[in-house]
Amino acid sequence: MNQEATSIAERKMQFLYALRSKGVTDTRVLNAMESVDRGPFITGLFAERAYEDMPLPIACGQTISQPSVVGLMTQALQVSPRDKVLEIGTGSGYQAAILSKLARRVYTIDRHRRLVHEAREIFASLDLVNITAITADGSHGLDEQAPFDRIIVTAAAEDPPGPLLAQLKMGGIMVLPVGQSDAVQHLIRVTKTADGLHYDELRSVRFVPLLEGLGKDS
Ligand code: SAH
Repeated sequence: MNQEATSIAERKMQFLYALRSKGVTDTRVLNAMESVDRGPFITGLFAERAYEDMPLPIACGQTISQPSVVGLMTQALQVSPRDKVLEIGTGSGYQAAILSKLARRVYTIDRHRRLVHEAREIFASLDLVNITAITADGSHGLDEQAPFDRIIVTAAAEDPPGPLLAQLKMGGIMVLPVGQSDAVQHLIRVTKTADGLHYDELRSVRFVPLLEGLGKDS
C-alpha cells in the first residue's frame, strides 16, 4: 500500500472511531457509514477534510452535516430494510446515501436544483439506484409517494411542518431539528401512534433553516 492509501485508511478508521465515541453504536448504521465514502460528497477546498467529524461548506451556501450528527439522526430514525423514507434537505446527498443502504426506497428533496443535480450524479456513480432526488420545496412533503415509514428533515423549522406529519405512516417515525436558525435548535423524534404524536427530545444541534420556495438558482 502506498503512503497516501495508508493515510486514507487511517483517516477512515479514525472516522469510525469518532462516530462510536459520539454515541453512534447501532451496527447497521455503522456498517452503512463505513460503506459510503464521504469523500465524493465534498469537492473543492474542503475535500481534504472529508473524514473529519465536522460539518463542511458545500455549494449554494449550504453545509454537509457533521458525520456524528448524521449517524445519530439515522440511528434515531430506526430504519428497516422494507422502509420507504423521505428526506427533506438533500444538500450534498450524503445522508440520503447512508439511508439508501438501510431502506428499500429513499426520496430526497432540496430547494436548490444545482444540489439535486450534483447529488444525482454521485448516486449514479456509486450505483445507489434506490434514491430519487427531486427539486422542490420539501416543506410540503411528497404527496404522490405518501405515506412514508420514516421522514428525516435536515434543515431547521420552528415546528414540524404539518404536511410532513400528515404524510407519516401510522407507527412511523420522523426525526428533525426544530428551533430558530440563529438560536439553539433541538433534534426531536416524533412517533405517530394511534393515541397521537409522541415527541422525544434528543440533543441540541445547529442546522441551516428550512426556507420556503425554491432556491434562486432553481
Ligand atoms: N442532508 C444534507 C445536509 C443538508 S443542509 C447532507 O447530507 O449533505 C440543508 C439543506 O436543506 C440545504 O441543502 C437546503 O437547500 C435544504 N433546504 C432548506 N429548506 C428547504 C426546503 N423548504 N425544501 C427542501 N430543501 C430545503
